[in-house]
Amino acid sequence: MKNTIISVKNLTKNYGSFEAVKDISFEVYEGEIFGLLGPNGAGKSTTLEIIETLREKTSGKVFVGGLDLDKAPNEIKKIIGVQLQTSGFYPGLNLLELIKLFSGLYNREVDGMELLKKVNLADKAKNKSKELSGGQKQRFSIATTLINNPKIVFLDEPTTGLDPQARRNLWDLIKKIRDNGTTVILTTHYMDEAEQLCDRIAIMNEGKIIKLDSPDGMIDELVATGFERPKQVKAANLEDVFLNLTGIEMKPD
Ligand code: ADP
Repeated sequence: MKNTIISVKNLTKNYGSFEAVKDISFEVYEGEIFGLLGPNGAGKSTTLEIIETLREKTSGKVFVGGLDLDKAPNEIKKIIGVQLQTSGFYPGLNLLELIKLFSGLYNREVDGMELLKKVNLADKAKNKSKELSGGQKQRFSIATTLINNPKIVFLDEPTTGLDPQARRNLWDLIKKIRDNGTTVILTTHYMDEAEQLCDRIAIMNEGKIIKLDSPDGMIDELVATGFERPKQVKAANLEDVFLNLTGIEMKPD
């Protein structure tokens, strides 16, 4: 039996007369990577920000870690990790100083070096955030979600704009976070990423969840309808070439 860590029941969000989220219900299980996919405007951010206690809902019920969003939003804040905008990383502070600043906001004592080791950035501890590459910035941003030792982390398009190696490094990191027992909820527009990472996926469209299953389950269902992909003519693609030429191991990105 899987334990439910997030439960969303009949959630609706209206902006004026516009229904952005239309009576959706779903559950996220403890210890899984759960993907929320869908085209721009589908209602993903609205849904996640409501769960994160950052936005008011119109109606419905939300429970996070057994806590009722209506009654205990501050308790919920303590058990979740939300990615901070990288623009909030004061450019003049180094990574250890930034961690100290953020842990002060959470009222937590954190071993900054230990945290940086987790995201493979120990060698950048004394560097300023503006001196990081795109992939390193993203890893640091993920580190900031872990400061309060959360039960659940929310990652918003964690690999957008990264090169193929940096994406793979991030995938490894996200899996490691999950394997350490933290539930991960992420949004992505990359289907290969969702297929690689997610234990289960909800696909949203026009404010509704139109499908919820494992990636495998969804693919099998489509194949069972007789769907066939155009045959692949080559055994490798350009991404394989790129990774083969530049190396796929944990390189500094
Ligand atoms: P997604 O994250 O899937 O791209 P959003 O949740 O950001 O979708 O937006 C869903 C819909 O709600 C969109 O049509 C968007 O324009 C609208 N919307 C989002 N935020 C607001 C807001 N603060 N006021 C009015 N409409 C909004």
